[in-house]
Amino acid sequence: MKKILVSACLLGQKVRYDEGDVPCLDPRFLKWHDEGRLIPICPEVVGGLPIPRPDAQRQGDKVVTGAGVDVTAEFEKGAQAALRLANEHQVALVILKQDSPSCGTLFIYDGTFTDTKVPGEGVTTELLRKHGYQVFGEDQLDEVEKELARIDG
Ligand code: SF4
Repeated sequence: MKKILVSACLLGQKVRYDEGDVPCLDPRFLKWHDEGRLIPICPEVVGGLPIPRPDAQRQGDKVVTGAGVDVTAEFEKGAQAALRLANEHQVALVILKQDSPSCGTLFIYDGTFTDTKVPGEGVTTELLRKHGYQVFGEDQLDEVEKELARIDG
């Protein structure tokens, strides 16, 4: 059965910048978990950032905190770790947490720290897509279900 790379916070791991999680309780997601398909990763933590940590947003090619600290290197390191894990498990697709500067798939915050979202993708999502992976948000499980049905045959 094909594996799926997922954001660790969607599986209830308290790895977010505020020490929280955002568990995905959709029955399909829980079923994939029970089937042992889900491979979790938090790119920001794997990249070396602590829990908790300052909120960060993409600003062009960089990622910075609200205080202006450049955390681009940690975000890129985490993205590379996610790519390695995806390759290692030959995942069929990826489900990441919407709106995150690492994991966002359709929207991210605009870098002004004014709670404004814009169309865009996180650093990890961008790298995984560059390497051919299909990356969906946790709000796109209808699409994931269709794709899995096609892949599993
Ligand atoms: Fe969740 Fe991704 Fe943020 Fe980690 S980096 S807390 S996995 S959204």
